[in-house]
Amino acid sequence: MITLGIEGTAHTLGIGIMNSKREILADVRKVYRPIKGIHPRESSQFMSENMNSAIDSALRGAELGFKDIGLISFAQGPGMGPCLRTAATAARTLALHYKIPILGVNHCVAHIEIGRELCKLRDPLILYVSGGNTQILKLKDKYYRIFGETLDIGIGNMLDKFGRETGLEHPAGPKIERLAKKGKRYIELPYVVKGTDLSFSGLLTNSIQKFRNNSLEDICFSLQETAFAMLTEVTERALAHLKAKEVLLTGGVGNNLRLQEMLRAMSMEHKAKFGVPKNYCDDNGVMIALLGLLMHESGIKQDINDTEVKQRFRTDEVKIAW
Ligand code: AMP
Ligand code: MG
Repeated sequence: MITLGIEGTAHTLGIGIMNSKREILADVRKVYRPIKGIHPRESSQFMSENMNSAIDSALRGAELGFKDIGLISFAQGPGMGPCLRTAATAARTLALHYKIPILGVNHCVAHIEIGRELCKLRDPLILYVSGGNTQILKLKDKYYRIFGETLDIGIGNMLDKFGRETGLEHPAGPKIERLAKKGKRYIELPYVVKGTDLSFSGLLTNSIQKFRNNSLEDICFSLQETAFAMLTEVTERALAHLKAKEVLLTGGVGNNLRLQEMLRAMSMEHKAKFGVPKNYCDDNGVMIALLGLLMHESGIKQDINDTEVKQRFRTDEVKIAW
């Protein structure tokens, strides 16, 4: 069966098409790039303006028509309300018009499942790091249980807010990574770990303050070293506690090579396999199609009335039936 997945939780409109053999038939991404932060209304407008052409180009690229699509899935949450509603409206319209079954899926679970699929991991400990989310999870009794998470802001939002205050364009994560490579001096910054939970707001405030008397390169270097060491520490603690044999890094911040390096080294010390889904850490429609397929194959069905968006849809609300 061929599934068309629609991602639209924040900045990326993604249309992915996947078949039951898990072959990626299309992966179209249109990214809203604001100078400063993401404005939900503007981002949703960007999505509605690009929806038709993105779906068209995905179908054309895969040489398919709507008659070939057996399931439409879309990101039901978590995310920004206006963006979620735009993607949901498109999914419902197509499902009703072409009489195709529809499934709303959890965006965070989709990040995990594409990582598991592409990295060939069975039961990993997961570090999920994106704009709004920072969580350490593992599957237990049919749910991705959260073993640790941020107590305030997500790591990606922290990096982006730091960028906004220091003149870096949005998204700041990749720019901070580039500048950090030129940093030479480690400047001490707040390191806040509580058990397997983390806090980034003090680190953010102090980094902005210290930017006044230090070079941006040194601050970026120190910010990354501090924040990523915190992430690696809590992941290691959870790994030892849960005796996990695999580690999966996913979400937008997972693109960062320094973070990958730290987690890979830590995993090797524990003889755990480490995986990161190359090119699929960012938001995309393929992961939404994959999760739709997994749910469908597990016999999960939704009525159009079940498809209202959930801005605060938590990862641990979803029963993992596969
Ligand atoms: P997501 O919410 O999963 O779409 O991820 C977006 C977040 O990932 C933004 O906060 C970006 O700044 C961040 N990000 C993307 N690439 C990198 C990178 N190379 N290093 C650090 N953060 C990154
Ligand atoms: Mg995401």
